[in-house]
Amino acid sequence: MCKRLVALFIFVTLILSGCAQTQEPLTQPSLVPTGEGSSTPDRPETPAPHFTAIPSEDPYLEERQMMVVTGIIGWGVEDQQVVDVMGRVPRHLFVPEEYLSQAYANHPLPIGYGQTISQPYIVALMTQELGVEAGDKVLEIGTGSGYQAAVLAELGVEVFTMEIVGPLAETAEARLDALGYIHAHVRHEDGYFGWPEEAPFDAIIVTAAPDHVPQPLLQQLKVGGVMVIPVGPVGGFQELWRITRIDKETVKSESLGGVRFVPLTRSFKDE
Ligand code: SAH
Repeated sequence: MCKRLVALFIFVTLILSGCAQTQEPLTQPSLVPTGEGSSTPDRPETPAPHFTAIPSEDPYLEERQMMVVTGIIGWGVEDQQVVDVMGRVPRHLFVPEEYLSQAYANHPLPIGYGQTISQPYIVALMTQELGVEAGDKVLEIGTGSGYQAAVLAELGVEVFTMEIVGPLAETAEARLDALGYIHAHVRHEDGYFGWPEEAPFDAIIVTAAPDHVPQPLLQQLKVGGVMVIPVGPVGGFQELWRITRIDKETVKSESLGGVRFVPLTRSFKDE
């Protein structure tokens, strides 16, 4: 198994420089290089990947490992727990049947209603930047397919995820239940206002882009907690931010680079 992986890694490294950058994202969200400040990484020397608990009969095992080697480790994600989890969650069960053959390609895919399942690299990056630990309480805005929620649940956190499109919320909930993710809770509602009954959260991840940071979400972040959120104009590029709550009044914001997400839509007018 180990030799096979090393061979796979060498093969992929050889072809990567020629093809990865030319891959056309189908739709948002995806990481886009925006010059200075872009978080598109150089591809550093990478350690041998480590995979755990993958069912041996999984027909997508090799494709998923290839995705992890090229699109996750190869693009600079270093957190071993995140790498392991990306190697475990069956992404092919979160994409529509017509896109099965692209389930492990490093780009977003349509999931209906004009929405997308995020690019695997972005899921891994955002998860890494959240810095969660098992037992943490995490709020996600933008359930979509439920894939990001599954990745978080695999890390042992309690996930509260909100989706504004009813049928997407329903499908994601059924899928997460069927896969046994009992620690992922889906709510069909406008996530702008967060989930006050479950607040405060150790971490908040927003996977649709608002044009400003929603105050209710900031208020639901614990002291020491981290929010990862893309902020920017609808239809344009956004900046991905990691916001850390220092104390009750103060937060620290760090840019993680340029990204492109679907917009955070609103069912109500801003207050
Ligand atoms: N995290 C998802 C992908 C997110 S795509 C995954 O892993 O598949 C962004 C999602 O945010 C879409 O499903 C969209 O319907 C949802 N969304 C947009 N505005 C929202 C809002 N105000 N509240 C909750 N969800 C929202």
